Amino acid sequence: MLIRDGIPTAEDLASVLPSPERLAKGPIAIAECFQSIACNPCTKACPQHAITMEPDINALPKIDPDKCVGCRLCVAKCPGLAIFVVDMTHGENTALVTLPYEFLPVPEKGQAVAGLSRSGEKLGEFRVFGVASGGKANLTWMVTLEVPKELAMEVRNIRVEV
Ligand code: SF4
Ligand code: SF4
Repeated sequence: MLIRDGIPTAEDLASVLPSPERLAKGPIAIAECFQSIACNPCTKACPQHAITMEPDINALPKIDPDKCVGCRLCVAKCPGLAIFVVDMTHGENTALVTLPYEFLPVPEKGQAVAGLSRSGEKLGEFRVFGVASGGKANLTWMVTLEVPKELAMEVRNIRVEV
């Protein structure tokens, strides 16, 4: 349960996961943000104005699946490391998962890293498809992993095993 161990329940996730129809159209952001706190950098980060919160800053963010283009700009801007971008259209059997990362060493493109579940369980070794900086004033990196499609909604962290 989120309040006890930080792990969202299946019901929590069902409330934010995009529809299969939207996932089939291309990359989309998923905000796994489930606690009402005064926080809104995600709404400012999105050039498409796809992330909103109503009635005020204490509400949970909502992502408009028709406005989000999966650009990933919001991923590094979330201080809660709660936003991921999933692209189920990447390959026949593979998907891309972009996740925020704040540890060292930062992995390199092409490197194999451990993909972890929301509870920290190792789900396998996956190839880093790309790495992007969050910007000069932002030490959060965006790491994109290539994973089997069936794990695209499960892999939410990485461990760089050196
Ligand atoms: S991925 Fe891009 S378009 Fe989608 S919500 Fe994030 S910033 Fe907006
Ligand atoms: S910036 Fe992150 S933690 Fe803050 S409201 Fe948006 S998704 Fe939640």
